[in-house]
Amino acid sequence: MQESENVVEYATYPSQKTCRLCGAGYGDLRIEFGKLPPCNRFVDSAETLPSHQLTMGACGNCGLIQLLDPMPPDMVRPRVPWIRYNEPSAHLGGVADRILEAIGRRPITALGIGPFEQPLLEELRLRDVVADAPRLNFQPTDGSFPYLETWQAELSRGSFSGSEGECGKADVVSCRFLLEHCHAPLDALHALGKLATSDGLVVIEVPDSSKFLASGDYAFPWEEHVCYFTAETLVGLCRRAGFVVIEMLRYNGDLEDVLVALARPADEPGSSCSKADLSFFLSYRDRYAGRQEQVRRALSRYGGDGGHVALFGAGHQSIMFANALKAAPLLSYVVDDDPKKVGMIAPGFSSEIRRSADLIDDAQIRACLLGVSPRAEPKVRSQLQKLTDRGVRLHSIFAGAVGSIFSGEPQ
Ligand SMILES: [Zn+2]
Repeated sequence: MQESENVVEYATYPSQKTCRLCGAGYGDLRIEFGKLPPCNRFVDSAETLPSHQLTMGACGNCGLIQLLDPMPPDMVRPRVPWIRYNEPSAHLGGVADRILEAIGRRPITALGIGPFEQPLLEELRLRDVVADAPRLNFQPTDGSFPYLETWQAELSRGSFSGSEGECGKADVVSCRFLLEHCHAPLDALHALGKLATSDGLVVIEVPDSSKFLASGDYAFPWEEHVCYFTAETLVGLCRRAGFVVIEMLRYNGDLEDVLVALARPADEPGSSCSKADLSFFLSYRDRYAGRQEQVRRALSRYGGDGGHVALFGAGHQSIMFANALKAAPLLSYVVDDDPKKVGMIAPGFSSEIRRSADLIDDAQIRACLLGVSPRAEPKVRSQLQKLTDRGVRLHSIFAGAVGSIFSGEPQ
């Protein structure tokens, strides 16, 4: 590892040969999605992008689903300054209330590690907790802009150990939507534990993978998500790291739920893990080829006789859908009204991203795939009403959404 110009080069990032939770050797429970470019690598002219084999596996011992030999952080690091992700926050008032009840005494201080902490810390401040969050002390250099890949690496190597501040260790240590990015999640949990008082709480929030596995949705794997937790494997990881989960909160989402583990140091380190239920992963693995064929058939039908098929939304799930399912060559272009993305080329595509106004003006458009969340979809459908009036078909890319490209044969 070299440090220069304020950016850590993780050039010698170790290749992981064993399960990140239990240490068992990888078996053959895996899905090969092929060599794919980073989903955040938008470029302003056609060029060959770096790519990396995306392989998802499940540990036959503990069941943790994880990437095998994931893309190195250097390759994942954004090359444009505007890559930012949003995470849900409407539930955080309830989370703050549960934290105060679970800790069993009046918490004085809270510390949040990661870029998604402020909404929860604000809720805790409203409840008279002194809350703070260290910054990531890396500046953009040489055309790369440190973000989650650097947060996760710095957390795991203990870089925030001096963040306790004048008050000492914190009563509440929160880490939202970062553990799933961690190449070394046990190290990350150990580092978080060191920031908490002996009777304090560590609050871990991650997406639950159960729904996308059950629905057979291949927009959800992502080179930046190294671990794909369920409630069982999150509890298992916490136990392995020396915590006991005193409460597991679940907040419902259309396509994926959110899990919030309230954990505290265990009296004894836990080492055993429950026997894995691999049925979801096996089913997910076995449906992959069929999903590719479904997309190919649908897009070929729409795209016959010179018809165009567009992909609306240039987020990482849209890009993964197109690349993991080998659909990009069958899509005419990508649409996104984000002015930072318009005119750029999305990873895996060869033409520029267009505005929705261009889509509406396209006389050859036959279908548009919606890579937007079910919550945002009604607004987008309304925006594209002129297309629907002309008989253009709109389908969600998400297998678990109503009106999905996978739900029945398109007409
Ligand atoms: Zn394992």
